[in-house]
Amino acid sequence: MNTTILGYPRIGARRELKFATEDYWAGRIDAAALEKAGADLRAAVWTELRDAGLDAIPSNTFSFYDQLLDTSVLVDAVPNRYRHLTGLDRYFAMARGVQDVPPLEMTKWFDTNYHYIVPELSPGTRFRLADGAAAKPLLEYREAKALGIETRPVLVGPLTYLLLAKPAADAPAGFRPLELLDGLVEVYAELLERLAGAGTAWVQLDEPALAADRTEAEIAALARAYARLGALPSRPRLLVATYFGRVGAEALRVLADSRVEAVGLDFVTGPDNLEVLASIGGLPRRTVVAGVVDGRNVWRVDSRRAKATCAALLGLAGQVAVSTSCSLLHVPIDLDAETSLDPAVRERLAFARQKVAEVVALGKALREDAPATAEIPAPPAGIDHRVRARLDMLGDARRGDRAARFAAQRAALRLPDLATTTIGSFPQTPQIRKVRADHRAGRISADAYIQAMKDEIARVIRLQEEIGLDVLVHGEPERNDMVQYFAEQLDGFATTEHGWVQSYGSRCVRPPILHSDVARPRPMTVEWTTYAQGLTNKPVKGMLTGPVTMLAWSFVRDDQPLADTARQVALALRDEIGDLESAGIRIIQVDEPALRELLPLRRAEHAAYLQWAVGAFRLATSGVADTTQIHTHMCYSEFGEIIDAIGALDADVTSVEAARSRMELVADLRAAGYRNGIGPGVYDIHSPRIPSVQEMEDNLRRALQAVEPGRLWANPDCGLKTRDYPEVEASLRNLVAAARRVRESL
Ligand code: GLN
Ligand code: ZN
Repeated sequence: MNTTILGYPRIGARRELKFATEDYWAGRIDAAALEKAGADLRAAVWTELRDAGLDAIPSNTFSFYDQLLDTSVLVDAVPNRYRHLTGLDRYFAMARGVQDVPPLEMTKWFDTNYHYIVPELSPGTRFRLADGAAAKPLLEYREAKALGIETRPVLVGPLTYLLLAKPAADAPAGFRPLELLDGLVEVYAELLERLAGAGTAWVQLDEPALAADRTEAEIAALARAYARLGALPSRPRLLVATYFGRVGAEALRVLADSRVEAVGLDFVTGPDNLEVLASIGGLPRRTVVAGVVDGRNVWRVDSRRAKATCAALLGLAGQVAVSTSCSLLHVPIDLDAETSLDPAVRERLAFARQKVAEVVALGKALREDAPATAEIPAPPAGIDHRVRARLDMLGDARRGDRAARFAAQRAALRLPDLATTTIGSFPQTPQIRKVRADHRAGRISADAYIQAMKDEIARVIRLQEEIGLDVLVHGEPERNDMVQYFAEQLDGFATTEHGWVQSYGSRCVRPPILHSDVARPRPMTVEWTTYAQGLTNKPVKGMLTGPVTMLAWSFVRDDQPLADTARQVALALRDEIGDLESAGIRIIQVDEPALRELLPLRRAEHAAYLQWAVGAFRLATSGVADTTQIHTHMCYSEFGEIIDAIGALDADVTSVEAARSRMELVADLRAAGYRNGIGPGVYDIHSPRIPSVQEMEDNLRRALQAVEPGRLWANPDCGLKTRDYPEVEASLRNLVAAARRVRESL
């Protein structure tokens, strides 16, 4: 093994997988056609990787939906509610649900934007190696072999699988999936033996869970699992791949003491893996698979640095193989598909295909001890010094304290108790999407586009007035996406045409690329918002996306700390907020749904992260008068580790998801010292059902046990853009009625 990658995108250069699965779901193609599309995609990837000159090629990195779901099917961890179904129907039911059978949960894969399907386990789960079509690693291995390509099947490691699983609803309290380790490892053992029988030389076991804090018991479980697998008499050689950060020395020592032949370490996210490795005396008789090409970001490799890392490793490892830091799943496929990127940006970029070439070139350079690739151009010279000066000067505290602001806003806005509002977007109807697409493609004039958007805004304002909401929104019809909309208007961001990355299942996103210093050449939302405000006497909320979310859902520069980039975005937002305020907008919402998502995997790094994340939000929002009300919104309710940070944001009003957790977080927030306004979502917008007045009234009354009426807001859980008008109208009418009833009874 000399050069390899830990995984490759599966969606296809033209998102073939998306279209094939969606065609299958809609009944437009049958299972055989879908299987064929999958096989074609796999063959294309293996052939491409072989032709690129990679020494070791991964397989089983394909999936019709998700690799964790594949693993659940592979080890037969299928909850009973799906067992009446078979094959692809069962598989997709677990991913997406079918009538009356809810899907498995889905959640984010570590700190990435990829979502996996959460295994659901109980003490009664009996793992068993699936056969036939479900024995996917074996099938893919044979399929590649039939094409003349030798591959290294990739499996989710048993420890990571169990640590990411959750107890089934009927599991006894206190049950932890890790208790099932021994049974699971036996299934892996059987699989490894069968792979060996099929001729497999290497297998990769992904254990990214080792990049997060691990308890002693978990480390002991790791030791047990790999002692068992390592001791198998007949097995392929094992590569245990860690990624997404620094591995703990205890975990690395366990791997060193086991018989695994290779360990993958991520030197991009975890440069201090070198020290960890040195601290355990290196891996003198093993291969270190050196993740030096960034699998999660789009920048070309700094080949000098990568070579230096590999050189340092030579003294610490028996052998070194050049690799990506993690699977390339997280980056777009091919830079060559982009035709309109600024050349100065483009020459700094590498997508999956280009990264494979980088790995190959680095391997060659290391063998020949020659310079690897041309130097990567530096980003355009530094930020405007006036911007730096402003950044240094600006504070991040509001002028008045909490109580003063509350009084000033109450007098200025004259809102009732339990003021009603929404989170920003209204349904994005097919007509709205079509107008935006027509505008983008140049099929309609700019004037026609603006008129269509204004008509839509006017309609949404009238509707909200008629429903009787207290604080209105313009409805966001002009936004394709809450990050891309701003990225397209800010300097320092580029957007791609084909830079799709899988988010979950068939859903793909095109994250913008934040490549240079950020600046705001002109106002971004002021015209739409003031147009809306001109149509009503009620306050219209301005809507912005916060600095952390802008970074979390973009590819970000790696040549300066994230904190610095966040401050630049914050400054642009601060100016936008100032312009909105000057234009007469009295309430401004800055959404930060990604605040928790960027939380580092290691607890020791939480405080530093939260400090800059909160600082950026405050920098953006602290320039306004006391009478201007700042809102923020987050789409979740499990605050846990960020609960203090929410208070520290010091937004005047915070809206959060709450309907599913029965308003508990209102009390949680108060208990954590939060004293500003709270808008706990009183109904769940993720479901099409229309909540009754009674149930929302109950929710509001529950919330009132922890917060006074003047600080309580009545709003849905999240934006309404994915819903349809009939249900939205009915739900909002009930919401207004519920707030009125509670108000009248106070
Ligand atoms: N203002 C945005 C909307 O309503 C918020 C979206 C979000 O929280 N993800 O769509
Ligand atoms: Zn939301």
